[in-house]
Amino acid sequence: MSESSPDPAVHTTSLAPFGFETTLSDEVPGVTVPWQGAHAPSPRVLMLNDDLARSLALDPASLRTAEGAGVLSGSIPPADSATVAMAYAGHQFGNFVPLLGDGRALLLGELRDDRGHRVDLHLKGSGATPFSRGGDGRAVVGAMLREYLISEAMHALNIPTTRSLAVVTTGEQVLREGGPQPGAVLARVASSHLRVGTFEFAARREGLTQPLADYAIARHYPAFGELTAEDRYLAFFEAVVDAQASLVAQWMSVGFVHGVLNTDNTTISGETIDYGPCAFLDSYDPATVFSSIDHGGRYAYGNQPAVLGWNLARFGETLLPLVNSKPDTAITALTAVLDTFGDRYRRHYSAAMAAKLGLDKNANNDNLVNDLQLLLADHRADWTLTFRALADNLRGHSSPLDSLVPPDASDAWLGRWRTSISARNQDLASIADGMDRVNPAYIPRNHLVDAALRSATEGDLEPFERLLDVVTTPFDHRDERSDYAMPAPESFGAGFQTFCGT
Ligand code: AMP
Ligand code: MG
Repeated sequence: MSESSPDPAVHTTSLAPFGFETTLSDEVPGVTVPWQGAHAPSPRVLMLNDDLARSLALDPASLRTAEGAGVLSGSIPPADSATVAMAYAGHQFGNFVPLLGDGRALLLGELRDDRGHRVDLHLKGSGATPFSRGGDGRAVVGAMLREYLISEAMHALNIPTTRSLAVVTTGEQVLREGGPQPGAVLARVASSHLRVGTFEFAARREGLTQPLADYAIARHYPAFGELTAEDRYLAFFEAVVDAQASLVAQWMSVGFVHGVLNTDNTTISGETIDYGPCAFLDSYDPATVFSSIDHGGRYAYGNQPAVLGWNLARFGETLLPLVNSKPDTAITALTAVLDTFGDRYRRHYSAAMAAKLGLDKNANNDNLVNDLQLLLADHRADWTLTFRALADNLRGHSSPLDSLVPPDASDAWLGRWRTSISARNQDLASIADGMDRVNPAYIPRNHLVDAALRSATEGDLEPFERLLDVVTTPFDHRDERSDYAMPAPESFGAGFQTFCGT
């Protein structure tokens, strides 16, 4: 895209080069605009993910310097990169918006991780861009720490996600509804920031979809480069359909509610992206909605698989001209792949639930799983605690489960479950241990996240750091951390809400 960029770099940095590459803007310039971050008065690293930094061959000590903080806030352009804002479109709550894009974000460049895979280093909150649409381009410290915490928790739960490298405070106050708040920038790492919305943007421009698709294939699904053109784009679509079916199955298995599943927040890589109004379930209820703007429950917990199917249909539409020059043939081929989404989702979900319940993944456990869900919904039982309590039940401790579902209600189901478990002919202790390896004891519970962010915004980072430690070792129950496993107290209230764009 052609846009005038802001003033040229006023600083250069003496930091060691990051080793950035810029293949997206080199190969598909049509989806990027050269751009630079806004000036930050006094950038300071508040949180830094040392392990992640090292895995990208970055030196944590240099990132903590004033210059490092300058680069990670977008205030100092890195010496070895040409930074860009990315363009995309998207369906927001079902309505098409032709131009969204990085309204407060900046792609610093691409790096290699320790497995040699290309990743993006991207900033959020780094100032206005040509895509800001009247927004201020800023972000506040509470919301950026929230993304840092929840994305790192998701990573620790083995769920594909963007990662968080740093939160840098800018030294500026940002005006929000509740009054001024400390400004901050999140530096995040993703296997790419290509979204369904990037393809929706390209599809409405001449000659842009094919280079974008070829780029995405080379970056995420390189094996398809060998296929004939006719097969390649269909295989690409199928791979994204499967990656998203797997991703949403994993969200469902841990009780994650993304909250704003617009097509611009749906990745091509199959990673979770854009932690705005997301939150985890406590008691099991498919109708759970946390986001203050999701009035119709479009993005309710139980709707997520269907909504991702809808988003993938929008993705498929953008690939029509690449799959076949005859529209009818292309529609038939893409629809046949899209129609596999439901089965793929159910397969991934069944496998996840079999592991959570210690069952044979090759058996049909659907009735057992459905009936457990009915039981939990009836008793408003805590989703996360239930699975740890079931493992305890196998170890002969019945009270954890009894406190979630009264024994006279759970007995019949427990009998059927125990029969299925016995059929595996394995000792119960090892089945229980296997369950504990996939069922987290700790998730970022809303009341804990809220309290930690409130303290952090007021300058006390300790509760946040403690919570981060707990949720990034989620399977590792320790008695001294028992409080972190408990659901919100009654006083926290049932009407907990989350907010976008904060
Ligand atoms: P999100 O809901 O965070 O996925 O953002 C949706 C769109 O709004 C994206 O194009 C964002 O870049 C843009 N956006 C969100 N917050 C701001 C802001 N404070 N200033 C400018 N653009 C924003
Ligand atoms: Mg977004």
